[in-house]
Amino acid sequence: SLPTVAIVGRPNVGKSTLFNRLVGKRIALVDDRPGVTRDRREGEGRLLDLEFRVMDTAGFEDHDPASLPGRMRAQTEAAVREADVALFLIDGREGLTPLDEEIARWLRSGKTPVVVAANKAEGSAGEAGRLEAFALGLGEPIAISAEHGEGLVDLFEVLRPHV
Ligand code: GDP
Ligand code: MG
Repeated sequence: SLPTVAIVGRPNVGKSTLFNRLVGKRIALVDDRPGVTRDRREGEGRLLDLEFRVMDTAGFEDHDPASLPGRMRAQTEAAVREADVALFLIDGREGLTPLDEEIARWLRSGKTPVVVAANKAEGSAGEAGRLEAFALGLGEPIAISAEHGEGLVDLFEVLRPHV
């Protein structure tokens, strides 16, 4: 079976946009409202000659397992635990938020390898965000634009060792 990439990050950083780009079909729901993806969604991703299973996730807002956000978070955590690599997206334009740091802490405490990508970095936008993301302690971040299809060769190079 194919290796699995789980896309994680706080709401609205572009996880579903990247999922759609990798899968090449509009399966995941993309919306301006934060956290609009309600399920784990998965598809077959392709990037140059890499083929992998890719999971879109949602839900990193709430620890309460009885709440809807809590159940979504539990699903996200399970997806990351089962994945060969977690692709941690931040918003390269907005920079780091406390929730990014909380997710990073959780990722650092787990066993799944992590690659960090600063999204929304089309053109020169997002380079400051990419540099800021070094502080997450998860290695060298890359800059991508899921919407405009930029940085995909860098994404290929960081995913390749894991898939
Ligand atoms: P999710 O909540 O993390 O799944 O984020 P979405 O994929 O739903 O995207 C949230 C918003 O960010 C949408 O309005 C997207 O069009 C926008 N977006 C996603 N990727 C990019 C990008 O690379 N550049 C810019 N400028 N906007 C993006
Ligand atoms: Mg989404």
